[in-house]
Amino acid sequence: MTTVEHPTTGPNAAGVRWDLSPLISSAADARALLAVGLERSRAFEARYRGTLATITAPELATALVEVAEIENMLSRASSYAHLREATDVSDPENRDLSAAIDRGLVEAGNAVRFFDLEWLALPEDRASTLADAPELARDRHYLHAARRFAPFMLSEPEERMLAEREPAAVSAWQTLYGRITSTLEVDFDAGSGPEPHTIDRLLAHVRDPDRDLRRRSLEALYEGLEPHTETLAQVYDTIVGDRLATDKLRGHGDPMDRTHLRNELDGAVVSRMMETVEAHYGLAQRWFRAKAKILSLGQLELWDQYAPIGSGRAVEFLEARDLVETAFGRFSGRIESVARDFFVEHRIDAEPRAGKRGGAFCAPVAQDAPAYVLMNFTDQMNDVMTLAHELGHGMHFMLSAERQSALSVHTGLALAEVPSTFAELLTFDHLLETESDPETRRALICERVEGSFATVFRQTVLARYEQRAYAARRDGTTLTAERLSDIWIDANRAYYGDTITLPDGYRFGWSYIPHFISTRFYTYAYAFAHLTTLALYAQYRQQGPAFADRYLEFLASGGSLAPADLLLPLGVDLTSPDVWKPGFAEMTRMVEVAEAS
Ligand SMILES: [Zn+2]
Repeated sequence: MTTVEHPTTGPNAAGVRWDLSPLISSAADARALLAVGLERSRAFEARYRGTLATITAPELATALVEVAEIENMLSRASSYAHLREATDVSDPENRDLSAAIDRGLVEAGNAVRFFDLEWLALPEDRASTLADAPELARDRHYLHAARRFAPFMLSEPEERMLAEREPAAVSAWQTLYGRITSTLEVDFDAGSGPEPHTIDRLLAHVRDPDRDLRRRSLEALYEGLEPHTETLAQVYDTIVGDRLATDKLRGHGDPMDRTHLRNELDGAVVSRMMETVEAHYGLAQRWFRAKAKILSLGQLELWDQYAPIGSGRAVEFLEARDLVETAFGRFSGRIESVARDFFVEHRIDAEPRAGKRGGAFCAPVAQDAPAYVLMNFTDQMNDVMTLAHELGHGMHFMLSAERQSALSVHTGLALAEVPSTFAELLTFDHLLETESDPETRRALICERVEGSFATVFRQTVLARYEQRAYAARRDGTTLTAERLSDIWIDANRAYYGDTITLPDGYRFGWSYIPHFISTRFYTYAYAFAHLTTLALYAQYRQQGPAFADRYLEFLASGGSLAPADLLLPLGVDLTSPDVWKPGFAEMTRMVEVAEAS
């Protein structure tokens, strides 16, 4: 084992910046790489356009290797540009580079698009025979999965008409929605005089210890939304109407069909999951009653839902690193070393500073290049969880890239958040065993319970709301603000029961959730991934160390199989009616720990 000098950091991860130079050494080199990628995309088009109808399996394998190499090159150039920009959004050189790369990517995409379309146009038996050929084993799932929308494609002129009218029929409404919700500002006094507050800024107060501030910020939000709700409802009504009309043309029976196809999940699995989640709303209500007691409140109001309990102690970056590495190491030396490489190779940018973007992410970069993590570390216990979360994505990308091609490296949306959530659970368990400060323990436990609720229960409420809105629209009902508000309150009431009072203004709670507008039924994937992770964690408790090897295999499998097939070897059978039981047993256990804390 090599000894590594720990970088010295002060408060707020001072000096912890990433080094992008191993990736690409300069903006000029990124542009040069883009040019090569573009050149090869054009050459690929010249060589292969019109050939898929007669291509042989070995030729297709050669073509896929070329596609993967182009993908890696463009992905590396684009990641480099966007990572540079993420740490200094104000630098015009960074913005120019990003814009140039984005333009190049569109051009490259146009050059190689024929390939997917020709693949989709092949008759089913011919495509199947090709995909099952031994030469194409590595990308077999990619090739099969690429065709899953094929049965719902219309004729070429029809598809072109739909695509041509998309900007006016769909995107324009989404833009209008985005403009209204992102520019909405309310004058609000959070303690230092009235200031214009955006929706996000108002919502940030819901975790404030000051109850009055929490109440006032939510009331200000609803008051600010009210004048816009008719327009926002009109936007939604139009988009839903358009989606239902195109579904009908394409032959989809259920408005959730396309989402299930994209997620590669069986509709029956999703609907059973949603029913199981709803059958456990009582668990959430039990916690809300307990929380009211802990906060010495007779009745919880909506603005108390995320009121903090306990308070986490400060944690400096080096300790956070140590906590996460140790937590991972207890599970598997392999993931510990994958995580350590992120620190040692300077692939984490944790220091908050002017011009750097907020939030956190892990960028996969490319199949032949290592991943990078960005976060804004402020010495909070929460930051430890964020670090674990992003490194969870990181270990997935790194292990998958070792074995998969550039085309099969990424797992779909349904499982993308599993490794990150699993990494959080490993870290949480380690902290629970080692943390001695009682207030920090309390904060950790309650945040874990409420985080699970927000993901599993809330997202299911949202998906159920959407389902009912689509059903109403399909029955010929116009989705007015009043009607959406009724559907919204019904879906929420089922969850909160009488444990949380919903203020009048919450009727407009549907109006600012962007997923409804951008991607229908997106929200259930959050619930699915979280419950799946809890089920995997329960398997880990049961199987012990033997589970770690299977889990590493799962990470290395990337997107080479559908979710159901990736999960089966780990002991999670999506077709079993009991599949979510261990997940809810985990959640119940956490609520018990929280009640006792
Ligand atoms: Zn994530």
